[in-house]
Amino acid sequence: MQQPSPHIWNKHVETMDRASLEALQLERLQETVRRVYQNVPVYRERMQAAGVEPGDIRSLKDLRLLPFTQKTDLRDNYPYGLFAAPQEDIVRVHASSGTTGKPIVAGYTQHDLQVWAEVVARCLGCAHVHKNDTVQVSYGYGLFTGGLGLHGGAERIGAKVVPTSAGNTKRQLMLMQDLGTTAIACTPSYALLMGETMRDTGMDLSKLKLRTGMFGAEPWTEGMRDQIQNLLHITALDIYGLTETMGPGVAMECMEGRYGLHIWEDHFIPEILDPATGEPLPDGEMGELCITTITKEGMPTIRYRTHDLTCIIPEPCPCGRTHRRIRRLHGRTDDMLIIRGVNVFPSQVEASIVGIDGIAPRYLLVVDRVNNLDVLEVQVELAPELLADEVRKIEDLSRRVQRSIEQVLGLSVKLRLMEPGSIERSEGKSKHVVDKRKLYD
Ligand SMILES: [Zn+2]
Repeated sequence: MQQPSPHIWNKHVETMDRASLEALQLERLQETVRRVYQNVPVYRERMQAAGVEPGDIRSLKDLRLLPFTQKTDLRDNYPYGLFAAPQEDIVRVHASSGTTGKPIVAGYTQHDLQVWAEVVARCLGCAHVHKNDTVQVSYGYGLFTGGLGLHGGAERIGAKVVPTSAGNTKRQLMLMQDLGTTAIACTPSYALLMGETMRDTGMDLSKLKLRTGMFGAEPWTEGMRDQIQNLLHITALDIYGLTETMGPGVAMECMEGRYGLHIWEDHFIPEILDPATGEPLPDGEMGELCITTITKEGMPTIRYRTHDLTCIIPEPCPCGRTHRRIRRLHGRTDDMLIIRGVNVFPSQVEASIVGIDGIAPRYLLVVDRVNNLDVLEVQVELAPELLADEVRKIEDLSRRVQRSIEQVLGLSVKLRLMEPGSIERSEGKSKHVVDKRKLYD
């Protein structure tokens, strides 16, 4: 066995042997189940209806006796119905924006914030970010967990934090250069926007000290990673988390493995479920990620259905961490479009166009229903360096892009190449789908 990576933040926990880690998980799971049973009527009623009591959790396998928690449960019990700690112990709330209706609210005790900073500190270690680094946090600050979540971890490791929040890109880039930022955290689409702005304004990359980036809060592909790395001249790593289970920092890709994200199993128990049946799937099989928090006090979540698609990678990682990895997120079960009976994920379209010369990684799927038949139009942006009058070249490109998308989707599509810069940019989560079929429902 080779030596564990010297960059590990908490060597004792991150390299703990599996048997000790699992014993710790069971102890914390039992404690969490007891606590929600006592303090959260919704959980108690559900468990009673399922005929299970806290004492029935005797092994980690017994987790599957417990009922699931869905996003709708968080909405239905808005704002404090799922809190397990007394209100006076809650020191912060965050909320995730919903497109309709009420947001979901998460509450944190002092201890929860300490745990959050600890797991984000581990994530920074995964990206080889240390005390001597200058970390620019370009996630939004506020009710969204991204900004303050990364902030807490970066302060915990003793780095110099530059809390720019999202937006005002040119100013971000100026500060990045002047303050000597070495690491950045934001959404991947915002990183791409920054990279494009650098290129378009002719910024001198040699004046930057930027070395690494931690990107998350939306699914992204290997192709997008290549684009970001090329534009910003950094190593781009994936960080995962969600407000319902804490925020960013639940799992993180490590520099040594760069394949899959270590999920901090002393705080979160992952399960992979068949999205249709809810039955747990074996390691290595793709399905829906379901997370149970085992140390959260403010708002623990039991078997929370994330609707994120991934699988567990059971093989050990070269970095020496023993916490298992989940594969990079592969879209969401609820992003899935069913078009003429075929399951389509927007991330597949992205994967199929990235790397084609002359094409920018910007796309929009427009789904419509014409004469009772679903029609998928894929709009793809041309790269700015391609001159618009090179008609023959564009026709050839059009054929290649269409073939590439159709091969991946297994579906015929109508392709529309768009002028550079014409598909809407976003500083937060990118919108990739317009589904007009809803008009007919
Ligand atoms: Zn690793």
